[in-house]
Amino acid sequence: MPLPAHVMVNGIGAGGGADGKVNVMHPVSSAARALRFPILLVALCCLASAVEAATPSQWVNSFWPTAKAAGISRATYNAALGNFTPDPEVLKKASNQAEFSQKIWLYLHSAVSEKRVAAGQALLQQNAALLRTIESRYGVDRHVVVAIWGMESTYGEILNNPDIVKGTIRSLATLAYQGGSRAKFGRTQLIAALKILQHGDITASRMTGSWAGAMGHTQFIPTTYAAYAVDFDGDGRRDIWGNVGDALASTANYLKKSGWQAGATWGYEVSLPKGFNYGLAKSERTLSAWRKLGVTRAGGKAFPRPSESARLFAPAGAKGPAFLLIKNFKVIKHYNNADAYALAVGHLSDRLRGGSEFTVDWPDADLRLSDSELVKVQQLLADRGLYDGDIDGNIGSGSRAAIMSYQETVGLTADGQVSQKLLEMLQSGK
Ligand code: CA
Repeated sequence: MPLPAHVMVNGIGAGGGADGKVNVMHPVSSAARALRFPILLVALCCLASAVEAATPSQWVNSFWPTAKAAGISRATYNAALGNFTPDPEVLKKASNQAEFSQKIWLYLHSAVSEKRVAAGQALLQQNAALLRTIESRYGVDRHVVVAIWGMESTYGEILNNPDIVKGTIRSLATLAYQGGSRAKFGRTQLIAALKILQHGDITASRMTGSWAGAMGHTQFIPTTYAAYAVDFDGDGRRDIWGNVGDALASTANYLKKSGWQAGATWGYEVSLPKGFNYGLAKSERTLSAWRKLGVTRAGGKAFPRPSESARLFAPAGAKGPAFLLIKNFKVIKHYNNADAYALAVGHLSDRLRGGSEFTVDWPDADLRLSDSELVKVQQLLADRGLYDGDIDGNIGSGSRAAIMSYQETVGLTADGQVSQKLLEMLQSGK
């Protein structure tokens, strides 16, 4: 979801960065499971040391004219903020941002896990009629919509996690009250959130989201909600928290309004000719022009629309798969401005449709663990008292922190990275 703060740095442009790494931040500890947070790429947050107002109630009073000018009624304002107290957890999460650097293929491995593919395929079947209707109304491939649902909230699973989900008004008011680099974001989003309440889309108690205000199945921040959320079932409320139809239609609407090309895919895995000049990756050219340079579709099929403009993306260079990315890839990046994210959504959507893994493997196969091995890692860390989060195989910031603690105690480089070697050491009793 497009939190302005969650903007990808230019780490992996066409042809890949120097090492194919993405910078990874975990401002929301266990929400890293939502797998959008692993690629939050904010400049390191510098929390303000000074609070702008002396007390929360003084701050609430001082913010009222701003809310009033935005059309918020006194009744809405008082009901939402009358008893405001800052949320210490939000303050902690906003200040405890550790930065990780993760290679794109390791990110993809966890983002497009077998578990997520299987869960998504089951949901495609269960919601077949709904998804067909959304697809025909918005012209957005249902597999892409479901892939984003999986990436943003693990198909709504995170919404049941009280460690992740918090009252949105309180979170945003805390960011606004706190001052510092997130205050402007907090104020803007708080006004948008108050408007949602005033409109009656959701009650204050059900308006929940991440500590940074990403809400519901689609993880919309309030301003995105204001611009793109839709009331798909026509009950008068745009309920992205409790109504899957409203949520997925909102996602489809957002993609459509961002320029989604109906009937087209996001890009293609391609094969590059021997001796390919990776310097060519810098420029966009048509698929037919790429074809003339010897770039072919993996599997040998022809490009369906050869006049389409595409850029080449080979984040691991010659050591991994390469892609030609077309318009819809850019559209997916409206959701989260990161190549890694968009590639994960695209690949997950293909897998949900029954497509296979990439034909070329990524490097670092030893760093990839299966879901059951990841569960083992978490269990073994928990046995050592280093980890107290869910044993679910989802490696978020809590798991990474535990891995780093363990690595330090056994003299490994504390990079928080899972690997076969790490699992072996844990299993050996060290
Ligand atoms: Ca509705």
